Amino acid sequence: MWNSKLETLDRTSLEELQMRKLARALESAARTSYYSRVFADCGIEVAKIRSIRDIKELPFTTKNDLRLSYPDGMLAVPRGDVVRMHASSGTTGKSTVIFYTMKDVGDWADLVARCMAATGATREDVFQNMMGYGLFTGGLGLHYGAERLGCLVIPSAAGNTLRQIQLIRDFGTTIIHITPSYALHLGDEAAAQGIDPKRLAVKKAYLGAEPYSEATRDKIEAQWGLDAYNSYGLSEMNGPGVAFECVEKKGMHIWEDYYYIEVIDPDSGRLLSDGEQGELVITHLNREAMPMIRYRTRDLTAVIPEPCPCGRSHRRIERIKGRTDDMLFIGGVNVFPSQIETVLMNVPEVGNNYQIVLDRQENLDRMHIRVELYSKMFHRDLRELERLRSQLVKELQALIAVTPRIEILEPGSLPPSTGKAVRVIDNRKI
Ligand code: AMP
Ligand code: ZN
Repeated sequence: MWNSKLETLDRTSLEELQMRKLARALESAARTSYYSRVFADCGIEVAKIRSIRDIKELPFTTKNDLRLSYPDGMLAVPRGDVVRMHASSGTTGKSTVIFYTMKDVGDWADLVARCMAATGATREDVFQNMMGYGLFTGGLGLHYGAERLGCLVIPSAAGNTLRQIQLIRDFGTTIIHITPSYALHLGDEAAAQGIDPKRLAVKKAYLGAEPYSEATRDKIEAQWGLDAYNSYGLSEMNGPGVAFECVEKKGMHIWEDYYYIEVIDPDSGRLLSDGEQGELVITHLNREAMPMIRYRTRDLTAVIPEPCPCGRSHRRIERIKGRTDDMLFIGGVNVFPSQIETVLMNVPEVGNNYQIVLDRQENLDRMHIRVELYSKMFHRDLRELERLRSQLVKELQALIAVTPRIEILEPGSLPPSTGKAVRVIDNRKI
């Protein structure tokens, strides 16, 4: 373990540590123009918050609050102490900005090193980072952590598929950090060049930045002959390094000495128990530049109540099911894109790319799913294609209670994505 003392801290000591850190985080929040106003409006005296459970007296912070306090309404230190900024990808509106002091950058690197070590990574590993560098946190976040661990880091960034393959071969890359959609595409491209991804030295993949299904993980592991680990983070909480799978690969440990977590009912805000699905709310207990209290992530998950066999005391969260704001309402039925992905990726004839298109005709919602065939399965036997189409319709119908129209496409018909994939195109004018 990277820090076995902290990673195996007993729950009582962990809670005491959280309380000490929360008191500091609240003091620092009270120095920001945003939180000082919120605390005053709600009549909150931060000194009176005495136990970690009292945190529920504090109001939630939302993405919109961050936007409204743009650019520096949540800054708790003088501008001169800030050494870095990042911004969220802005897939759901105007992007938001996060600031870091030198200590924050160092703490973040340390957390990422902890995550990587939990997967068995060491200084002997060659780490190729295929995430976007720049304002997005996926590039620099993992980069600093991998250096801290002592790996050889190849900052290849997203895209340029042929060069990625070349680098993997020339430098014997053992770990890749990549979005799930790009991992599948890269594997296909390698195969198209006559290189079997399983024969490359890559032994681990860190997959994150977007929701994906267990079936997609299985597919990537089989295609590359590696172990894929789920990596979760969001820029509001630094970026990657918030929660990560250990070698058990059964849920992601969320580092509770840095993050205080709650799961709430997204509609009522009511606190849920471990094991119940809801929206993850996180308080950053450790950041100097930009405190973040009870931040509503909009990510849907549940805390896994059982302890992990690896011996870490920090609780695990389940794979993110989706976001409260990506749930689709189709003809009165709620559907998550991840449910559709699970069906598609379990069918061997289906390739790596798909798109969900929503339209409204004569006041009725219609779902149209465009799926690429797996290249090795591609043939023009119309009867076979028809059989596949009706199988997909039937399986989707059974799971999501919506009857989609399925369009089967040749491999490579849909645009591949190197960053976060855009899976849903909603043409309905609501
Ligand atoms: P950003 O702040 O732009 O990096 O986006 C963070 C968001 O990406 C999170 O709130 C999640 O919705 C999503 N995300 C990141 N990692 C994962 C993951 N492993 N599984 C599902 N969604 C993820
Ligand atoms: Zn574990």
